[in-house]
Amino acid sequence: MRIAFIGLGNMGAPMARNLIKAGNELNLFDLNQAVLAELAELGGQISTSPRDAAANSDLVITMLPAAQHVRSVYLSEDGVLAGVRAGTPVLDCSTIDPQTARDVSRAAAAKEVDMGDAPVSGGTGGAAAGTLTFMVGATPALFAAFKPVLEQMGRNIVHCGEVGTGQIAKICNNLLLGISMIGVSEAMALGNALGIDTQVLAGIINSSTGRCWSSDTYNPWPGIIETAPASRGYTGGFGAELMLKDLGLATEAARQAHQPVILGAVAQQLYQAMSLRGDGGKDFSAIVEGYRKKEG
Ligand code: NAD
Repeated sequence: MRIAFIGLGNMGAPMARNLIKAGNELNLFDLNQAVLAELAELGGQISTSPRDAAANSDLVITMLPAAQHVRSVYLSEDGVLAGVRAGTPVLDCSTIDPQTARDVSRAAAAKEVDMGDAPVSGGTGGAAAGTLTFMVGATPALFAAFKPVLEQMGRNIVHCGEVGTGQIAKICNNLLLGISMIGVSEAMALGNALGIDTQVLAGIINSSTGRCWSSDTYNPWPGIIETAPASRGYTGGFGAELMLKDLGLATEAARQAHQPVILGAVAQQLYQAMSLRGDGGKDFSAIVEGYRKKEG
């Protein structure tokens, strides 16, 4: 199968690598020439624009930073919709707001192109290992067309409903994740300040009712979970800046729906303050540093 893949960053590049490994031919486009050259060595074909990439492909996949990039890659003169053939299945895997997902899909429908949204979870590790979760908002026919391809990049492929529902699932999950990380940070820091061994405390939490992914897999306290970013200086993982973006999407969607997200709004402000301190590039679990005395 010939697949256009546009947006080859921390997530897109390993996803594209897995598609090449599975035997597909890829038409690649990104603004970053270095990553294009690297993937061309594996057999990918470099395109000159999103339009060019989409023009002679059987499927189109995009993985871009935010809504403005998605609009531009699809709707500009040199964009996907200017080149794609009618009837080609198209999927955007970026995390963006549900309304933009619906708007761009509507523009695609005007060209007889069925387009859906499929944001992912699982991080860069999951992208490399091919174990991502895809939350797909699409027509049943589009979901069926993409499922075998998504299985080459992920393990859990979920049809959430119509276009936009993938994004809704993603932002609700990340709203909860942003909040739960702050909760675990407070509990770990309080225990430490009161004098309990943090390893003992984490063990209790992880076999008690406070247990969650932020405590048992991605604990923010250094040294508790060897594989968590906290144990390697908060490098790698999921950047606080991206968490801030997702909380912004959640609070904005909530505003439009007249739905309160009280803890989400507080969490957003805490990550905003972290970003202002210059720590936006650290993994989001470094939010715990706001609860700790600086050493030295
Ligand atoms: P990234 O910034 O590493 O990569 C984005 C890529 O898009 C870059 O290579 C950039 O050059 C390219 N790009 C930007 N504008 C472009 C344009 N106009 N035309 C072509 N290419 C363009 O981002 P990422 O970490 O790969 O994340 C991608 C998306 O996945 C984001 O929406 C993010 O929120 C989401 N996501 C990220 C993670 C993670 O752990 N990094 C996890 C889940 C979801």
